[in-house]
Amino acid sequence: SGSIKSRGGIYEVLCFAEKIAIENGFDLKKDNYQDLRKDKYRKLFNQWRIEVASTGNLGLSVGLMASTLGFKARIHMSHDATDWKINKLRQNGVEVKIYDDNFSNAVAAARVSSQRDPYSYFIDDEGSKLLFAGYATAGERVKKQLSEMQIEVSKEHPLVVYLPAGVGGSPSGVAFGLKLRFADAVIPIFVEPTHMPSVLLGMASGLNHDISVYDIGIDGKTAADGLAVGRPSMIVGKYMTDKLFGIETVSDSDMFAYQGMLTKLENIVVEPSAAVGLRGLIQSKEISE
Ligand SMILES: *Cc1c(COP(=O)(O)O)cnc(C)c1O
Repeated sequence: SGSIKSRGGIYEVLCFAEKIAIENGFDLKKDNYQDLRKDKYRKLFNQWRIEVASTGNLGLSVGLMASTLGFKARIHMSHDATDWKINKLRQNGVEVKIYDDNFSNAVAAARVSSQRDPYSYFIDDEGSKLLFAGYATAGERVKKQLSEMQIEVSKEHPLVVYLPAGVGGSPSGVAFGLKLRFADAVIPIFVEPTHMPSVLLGMASGLNHDISVYDIGIDGKTAADGLAVGRPSMIVGKYMTDKLFGIETVSDSDMFAYQGMLTKLENIVVEPSAAVGLRGLIQSKEISE
């Protein structure tokens, strides 16, 4: 499903599938987890609907995983969602509702929709600890990859990570996972669009989830759809106070320049949201030179 959301989104769908299977008497110690795709499970899962609000990528991860296992899925998309993501979901039998509104209001609508139906499971991008735990697995994976590449990480050779932030869930989960593995040798920095500095605003003001960029007259206009959320999650401020090194902001025009550079110089194609982190890398290189 092509983004960091896979770690959290796919993980939470699998956790829910596991829970439902066990509650209904299936023995997951006997069956392989790949058996979750078999008919006997699909019939059970099909009674349930998984709902989530998304600017695009979380919906893609959750929707594709849910439909793979036979769940019904309803994705509530804010107006930022790009057409190809919506189309891909619909092609896979996922219901997509589009709101002519910002992300926070799409979340509220999704929550209400899910509460009405006892067979609906809501994945809460603004507060889910399962999403957070899924993102945190990145710590273990990155540690393995770096050691295979024989790259040392220590206080003398710190690992500085630039993490694009929307609600702050995925970057804080990743930062948390990395801190567990590398402790003080990792230096996490969040990166946000200049017109969507939601986590920066929440943490700097101390108001966290109780303030949005719209409250202080920022227009929230950015082409970084993965980061296009005006209000931080309920948990990022709490979990990150003693772990985060800093937050920086990047303009959309710089973001597009980095995206183009990455394609041209490294032949790596990423979506705009994924390119904002390059800013810190380029700046630190300039400083060290
Ligand atoms: C969602 C997303 C982020 C940020 O994750 P949050 O949990 O919203 O902070 C970063 N990059 C991409 C590509 C995304 O889709």
